[in-house]
Amino acid sequence: MNERIDGHTLLIGLMAYPIRHSMSPTMHNNAFAKLGLNYAYLAFEITSEKLPAAIDAIRTLDMRGSNISMPNKQTVIPLLDKLDPAAEMVGAVNTVVNNNGILTGYTTDGTGFMKSLADENLNIIGEKMTLSGAGGAGTAIAIQAALDGVKEISIFNQHDKLWSNAQRNVNVINEKTQCKATLYDFEDPDIFKSEIADSMIYCDSTGVGMKPLEDMTLVSDPSWFRPDMIVFDTVYAPRTTELMRVAKTAGVKHIFNGLGMMLEQGAEAFKLWTGEDMPVEYIREQLFS
Ligand code: NAD
Repeated sequence: MNERIDGHTLLIGLMAYPIRHSMSPTMHNNAFAKLGLNYAYLAFEITSEKLPAAIDAIRTLDMRGSNISMPNKQTVIPLLDKLDPAAEMVGAVNTVVNNNGILTGYTTDGTGFMKSLADENLNIIGEKMTLSGAGGAGTAIAIQAALDGVKEISIFNQHDKLWSNAQRNVNVINEKTQCKATLYDFEDPDIFKSEIADSMIYCDSTGVGMKPLEDMTLVSDPSWFRPDMIVFDTVYAPRTTELMRVAKTAGVKHIFNGLGMMLEQGAEAFKLWTGEDMPVEYIREQLFS
């Protein structure tokens, strides 16, 4: 790091709270070092109260940009100058790019999800997806999948504070894309089972399977899955969730945790700031082998 930092180094931030656990600084700084790019990436503990001053600092310090995470993904929007159309549809921003004082907000979680499937030579364009969850990750996945040409998405959510968000997602997709989206709750297991049976991909974006719900899965019967389908869990810690174990028992060929999505959302942001492709395989080895 010492050899890399000089008077020309451009700063990129991560503004969230809490944030000290994040792998993003290691991911991006390793990638800058590998490619010899003169940037430094630092995490800043930024609460909602500190966000306006922190966003202004991007302009004042002529930072190249920032990642944005909870609790700031929505509240950052009015503080920016422009929004990428996908970020506007998702209603959240996880990446800010500063071009001569003009701040543009992007969302890269959904593109990261789609790219992680493409990395495995899997194509879900024109196919049907069943998706559990409509929070930050579920919204980004549903909207990007619909924008990219997934034909149909059945979204399942429980009747909690995210239910209205799930309704909004379905409305946005049906109004603004060619994809047909339908919202269900989990109450009728027969509907949940038949929607999965009719889909090429089942994706769980609820965080069930992660602490403190690491022993749980929304689908516990292997007979709900077919070997030729894709089962995707956005959770990446633990690496193998209960859902993934059920899919394995069912003989599902394509089973993924959220690691590829996490790397690819970072790579999308990296490209927006630097114009360069992140060395994803190198970073995967550095962080996870
Ligand atoms: P969130 O709180 O915004 O949304 C959670 C969603 O899950 C909501 O729709 C909620 O209704 C639903 N839910 C919660 N508990 C449930 C339960 N017991 N049964 C059924 N539904 C339930 O969270 P988020 O930010 O969207 O994160 C969700 C998961 O995705 C987390 O595990 C997170 O680590 C992961 N994630 C992964 C990536 C990645 O790059 N791989 C990116 C973002 C989030």
